Amino acid sequence: MPELPDVEVFRQYMNQTSLHKNIIKVQVDHSRVLQDITPSAFKKRMKGRRFEKTRRHGKHMFACVDDEFWIMFHFGMTGFFKYFKRDQEKPSHTRIMFDFENGYHLAYDSQRMLGKVQIVDHAGDFILERGLGQDALDISGNSFQNKFQGRRGAVKTSLMNQSLLAGVGNIYSDEILFQSRIHPKEKVKKLEESQIKTLHRKMRAVLKKAIEKKADPGEFPDNFLIPFREKIESCPRCGGKINKIKVNSRGTYFCPKCQPLSE
Ligand SMILES: [Zn+2]
Repeated sequence: MPELPDVEVFRQYMNQTSLHKNIIKVQVDHSRVLQDITPSAFKKRMKGRRFEKTRRHGKHMFACVDDEFWIMFHFGMTGFFKYFKRDQEKPSHTRIMFDFENGYHLAYDSQRMLGKVQIVDHAGDFILERGLGQDALDISGNSFQNKFQGRRGAVKTSLMNQSLLAGVGNIYSDEILFQSRIHPKEKVKKLEESQIKTLHRKMRAVLKKAIEKKADPGEFPDNFLIPFREKIESCPRCGGKINKIKVNSRGTYFCPKCQPLSE
């Protein structure tokens, strides 16, 4: 599922390909991803418009249309964008497609149709109404400390809680905990102040590195756990065996040697 780094890469992709171009037509191949608007109303609203700028908050991306309103894109489990010229390049699960005056198209692909596309007046209002926490790359060390201190439950659960902190999901929370040498099931209450500081620092470092590498695990540094997920190979740090457990029913990978539970 696309998490903060993936969505940031989609945002940069849209910036590089699709801004300031006249939209001459919009095709809706499947209306299920469209929220609160009919395909015909959506097409009418978008025709002759331009995407002018973008922003991202956690796993949500927004594109500003003519400085009048925004489109929110959520990528569900498998979503992505593709900008292309010829019809044969159209991705197979295109749900919505914007046709530009220059002959190019921007497709929003969502194979399992769990993604969402919605017109909103202001991106900021949407973020407030959804009760999303601060973006994981914006939150300061102090705010992070305040949010985490005294919380109940496992640290992984808090990292993934979008109303506490927006952007970190199942995969990146494992990486952040691995880099911080903290067990995914460690109780937040048991964390030392210095460990919470480490967690914040490593969270930023992991997310930034992933964005720099275009969220492509094949390009990640040798000390990252993500490329070893699923394969359950050895720990890139100590050579020990990577374990798989469930935390809140989510498949979780960690190294028991490098990430021991506190007593
Ligand atoms: Zn290890």
